[in-house]
Amino acid sequence: MEELYVRTEKIIYRNLQNSWSVIRCFLPSEKQSVTVTGIFADIQPGMSLKLSGIWQETERYGRQFRAEHYEYAEDASRRAWLSRDLFERLQESSFRMRFHLKEADLAYIKEKGIDTVRSHAEEIIRKRLTPAVIPNDGKQTPMRGAPHGHPVFLAQHATGTCCRGCLAKWHGIPAGRELTEEEIMYITDVIMKWIVRENIQQE
Ligand SMILES: [Zn+2]
Repeated sequence: MEELYVRTEKIIYRNLQNSWSVIRCFLPSEKQSVTVTGIFADIQPGMSLKLSGIWQETERYGRQFRAEHYEYAEDASRRAWLSRDLFERLQESSFRMRFHLKEADLAYIKEKGIDTVRSHAEEIIRKRLTPAVIPNDGKQTPMRGAPHGHPVFLAQHATGTCCRGCLAKWHGIPAGRELTEEEIMYITDVIMKWIVRENIQQE
């Protein structure tokens, strides 16, 4: 199977019963339009698609791409982005990179111990991020570290785990439903990974 990124130009034919369609698509990699066939349910001209399928040579119509599967290219590129290393992606955000542990945070972590800080992180996630509906979402995590805030708050802003909006954007965890136990553990791990890294870097 081959993968093609195309832009739909014109619906040439559509079978209304089963959505089998013939579509003219622009193929940037060849800088020309090609004919694509397949089951396309809700396609209009001007959409970016990622197709999987095979090229065929037909006697009557010439070369055509028979698509067996398609998805919106926006979705495909977003999935590719989400699958990249989180810390690498965070480095590309000047906002996320602004957050660091300060001396008071490092002292706090040293005093409490890393296991206690982890239990705080888990507690904070359960309380402030887990419910399906959070009226003040986006504002529930203070920007301050120790002594008036908490190092976990800084870690949350640095890792995109500060609110359900950021969890959806950076981690692909949808908002509007309760977090699962697995997700709570995953988020706690991310926070602790960042804290440990910061701790090492600043020692
Ligand atoms: Zn946020």
